[in-house]
Amino acid sequence: ATPTALMVGTGRGAQLGILIKGPEVLESTRQVDTVVLDKTGTLTAGQMQLVEVRPAAGTARDDVLRLAGALEDASEHPIARAITAGARSELGILPAVEQFSNSQGLGVSGVVEGHAVAAGRVSWTAEQWAQHLDPELHAALEHAESAGRTVVAVGWDRAVRGLLVVSDTLKPTSRQAVAELKALGLRPVLLTGDNRRAARTIGAEVGIDEIVAEVMPKDKVRVVRELQDSGRVVAMVGDGVNDAAALAQADLGIAMGTGTDVAIEASDLTLVRGDLRAAVDAVRLSRKTLTTIK
Ligand code: ADP
Ligand code: MG
Repeated sequence: ATPTALMVGTGRGAQLGILIKGPEVLESTRQVDTVVLDKTGTLTAGQMQLVEVRPAAGTARDDVLRLAGALEDASEHPIARAITAGARSELGILPAVEQFSNSQGLGVSGVVEGHAVAAGRVSWTAEQWAQHLDPELHAALEHAESAGRTVVAVGWDRAVRGLLVVSDTLKPTSRQAVAELKALGLRPVLLTGDNRRAARTIGAEVGIDEIVAEVMPKDKVRVVRELQDSGRVVAMVGDGVNDAAALAQADLGIAMGTGTDVAIEASDLTLVRGDLRAAVDAVRLSRKTLTTIK
């Protein structure tokens, strides 16, 4: 491609709401055959809501909500924001948290009202106390996850005391964008730290059946590398701090303009409006720009 044609392509990208880091980016865009999509904030709106509080037998519902809400007030995670907002709107002022600690991609812990409290992935929380969920909580967990929701286990004093269910919504354009990516011959892969069942449900809703779930933040980059090692040319679309390394590793990193600065800096393309359909436009643009000038 001539430099002039690439410059024109870059300008056209800006009109479509696509910021392109350099003219050569269009070359890599054209070669991509696989698109790895982060779930939260990329396919979904990333604005989670607390939709259900499930105390374990013998535990008061308000205790679960209050201790978890207080603990999560110290975390920036979208799940944490949903839990604290839900707790505060029901209970008002929440108690303070001491000795707060964040286990990236797993959950949080700290001391609230003298109790050692933890909230996070069910496996991680239950493991700390070598405990299984009682059958009723287990049924609620499976039901919520099958509906595409994220379940957080809450425990204190060495026992799981309840579950909190948070729900996100798909962006209205995700399904169409995935269909168009597939029509262009690209293979979509859903990549998330969230649980397998929820990931599969969200995948079915947008039309993705290749799913890699329950991935630790530091392992997202490894998933991209393994796809590359198997011969695929990979675009990665993400928005979060924990996507940055994978975005940099991908043959083409695509950030949501609505996401974090770290993700944008690690990427080659930014979709200004956070609409995945702009990624489709980028692929079309790269193919057009690079064929008209042959
Ligand atoms: P995602 O890929 O959806 O951004 P993360 O890697 O940040 O997810 O987190 C993976 C999982 O770890 C979440 O689905 C949740 O179960 C748990 N988790 C992480 N941080 C928190 C938190 N502050 N509170 C509760 N659970 C958390
Ligand atoms: Mg995300």
